[in-house]
Amino acid sequence: MRATSAGRARRRPKTYGDERVCAEKRCETRLSRYNRETFCFAHAPTKYRRMRGEFTAEYSSRNS
Ligand SMILES: [Zn+2]
Repeated sequence: MRATSAGRARRRPKTYGDERVCAEKRCETRLSRYNRETFCFAHAPTKYRRMRGEFTAEYSSRNS
C-alpha cells in the first residue's frame, strides 16, 4: 500500500456525532465521531474486524 500524499487536502474529516455509543445492547462503548459504524470495534460485523487473532472465539474457548 502506498502512502497517499499528505497535506494535499485540508478538508475537515466528516463527523458523525459526538455522543454515539455502540448499537449493541448493553454495550456502552463510545464511538468516535469519525467512526461511521454503529457498533464499536468489538461488536462490528466480522468484515470490519481487523484483529490479529488475539481474541477470536477459538482463542477464548481454549483459554476459558
Ligand atoms: Zn459494542
